[in-house]
Amino acid sequence: MLEYNQGVGVSYVAGTDRRGSTVEPVIRIENLWKCYDEGCPEGSAALRGLDLEVEGGEVLALYGRSGSGKTTLLNLIAGLDRPTRGTITLEGRNIHDMGEFERTQMRRSRLGFVFQFFNLIPTLTALENVLLPLELLGKPALGSAENALASVGLEGKGGRFPHELSGGEQQRVAIARALVKDPVLVLADEPTGNLDTETGDQVLDLLRDLCMQAGTTVIMATHSPLSSRIADRILRIQDGRIAGESTEANRP
Ligand code: ADP
Ligand code: MG
Repeated sequence: MLEYNQGVGVSYVAGTDRRGSTVEPVIRIENLWKCYDEGCPEGSAALRGLDLEVEGGEVLALYGRSGSGKTTLLNLIAGLDRPTRGTITLEGRNIHDMGEFERTQMRRSRLGFVFQFFNLIPTLTALENVLLPLELLGKPALGSAENALASVGLEGKGGRFPHELSGGEQQRVAIARALVKDPVLVLADEPTGNLDTETGDQVLDLLRDLCMQAGTTVIMATHSPLSSRIADRILRIQDGRIAGESTEANRP
C-alpha cells in the first residue's frame, strides 16, 4: 500500500487513504514482547504483551519508572531493534515485514527523534545539523533548514556549533532537526531529562505547539510527571505493559 522510495517517502497523508478517509491509526501495536535474555525467563522480558494505538496528531506521554520499558518500545517503533513477538504497524504497514533498506527509508522520511542528550553532531553547526536529515533524504533544502531553525527561535544562531549553545538551545536544534522533514511521528525519549525545569517546560511547549500546527503525532517517553502535562493522553507503563491511563482528574 505504501512505498518508501529513496528520497521520496510515502505518497499520501498518514492515516488516510487517497480520498482522505481515515483508515488506520498512525501506530498500532499488538501483543508486543521484547526479551533481551536468552530463553526469556519468566518475568525478565522488557516488554510483556504491550498493546497501543495512537491516532494521527495525538500527543501521547508514556509515563513510567526507569526500567519500565519506555526506551525499548521507542527503539522497536523506530525499527532499530526487532520484537521477540508481536507487531508494530506504522501507517498500515508492519515495519518488521519491510526489508532493511525500506525500513531505513521509512525512518528517515516518516520519523523524527528527540533524545535526552540532544545527540547533535558536535562538528556540524546548528544549521548543518538541521540540514542533515534532508541531505540523507536526497533533498538538501537550505531554506527549509533555516525556516525550521527560525521556528524554534534560533534565527541567527545557525552558524554556532553545539558547544556554543545552551542545553535548551541544543534541544531546540534537535526539535528543528526532528521536524524539518515533516515527519508523521516524533519519538521523544526523556526530552527534558537533561534540562532544568523552566527550560524543559519551554522546550515541551515548543514541541507541542509545533507538532500541533503540523498535525504531527508525538510519542514521548518520560519518568517525569511534569513532562506529561503537554500530552493529550498519558499512559502509564509498568513492567513492559500499559498499566493504566491518566485522565484529567488523576494526572500524575
Ligand atoms: P526505560 O526506558 O523505561 O528506563 P528500558 O526500555 O531502557 O526502560 O529498559 C527496560 C528493561 O530492559 C530494563 O530491565 C533494562 O535493563 C532492559 N534492557 C534495556 N535495554 C537492554 C539491552 N540492550 N540489553 C539487555 N537488557 C536491556
Ligand atoms: Mg529510557
